[in-house]
Amino acid sequence: MKSKIVIGNWKMNKSFDEAEDLITEIEEILADLNLSTLVVLAPPFPYLELATDHAPDGNFECAAQNCSQFNNGAYTGEVSASMLADIDVEFCIVGHSERRKYFNETNEILAEKVNRLTEVGLIPIYCCGETVEEREAGVHFDVIEKQIKEGLFHLLPESLERVIVAYEPVWAIGTGLTATPQQAEEVHLFIRSLIEKKYGTEAAYNLNILYGGSCNPSNALELFTQPNIDGGLIGGASLNTKEFIEIVEAAETAGSDK
Ligand code: PEP
Repeated sequence: MKSKIVIGNWKMNKSFDEAEDLITEIEEILADLNLSTLVVLAPPFPYLELATDHAPDGNFECAAQNCSQFNNGAYTGEVSASMLADIDVEFCIVGHSERRKYFNETNEILAEKVNRLTEVGLIPIYCCGETVEEREAGVHFDVIEKQIKEGLFHLLPESLERVIVAYEPVWAIGTGLTATPQQAEEVHLFIRSLIEKKYGTEAAYNLNILYGGSCNPSNALELFTQPNIDGGLIGGASLNTKEFIEIVEAAETAGSDK
């Protein structure tokens, strides 16, 4: 049985004090739950070390929301994968649609970021997903295939096996519109089949594919019980302890039903 994964992407939200409160609240609740679900918190950079300090006792892991495609050097404002590794961050979101849209991140740049992360042992959480126009035009599978192939297919099997994929339809992120469980499952199965063709059945089975896009306590269980949905990447609802924990509990229930 594969345990589910729930990742909270805080984006650019919370003050330091609010971040500390949220981390402490989540930590205290998780300490009592004894879950098999892997919980990962992705706060903004300035709060990452606070989160990694709490992580060992908190039954959660920490993710950054981004990293540089470069190793080190004169890249003002950037944070390297090895700096993240130095403060015990274990995961990093790569290619969130907000970074693709507002910061012009291409699949080629993202492939470099994936390389920097795997080189230092961090786990990339590689995001893909179509816009509403692409879905309406019926080209969403083509878009996702290109994102997966150009962002990941250069990896050797031993690196690919450390990657998490997140399917996040852009039209569902922060909009309150969720992909139906059937829509999400169809794409997850498609992504798994792409991996199977390139890396084989075992790699495809082992790949964790998370759903993201207005996931909340009311829709989480139905999404997470789909055969190819291994958990969720949660934006808005991860900023609220109660909602986030309810989603984590839905993942736990879905995982133990498998
Ligand atoms: C996200 O930004 O990764 C996300 C899924 O956001 P939301 O849950 O708010 O739609």
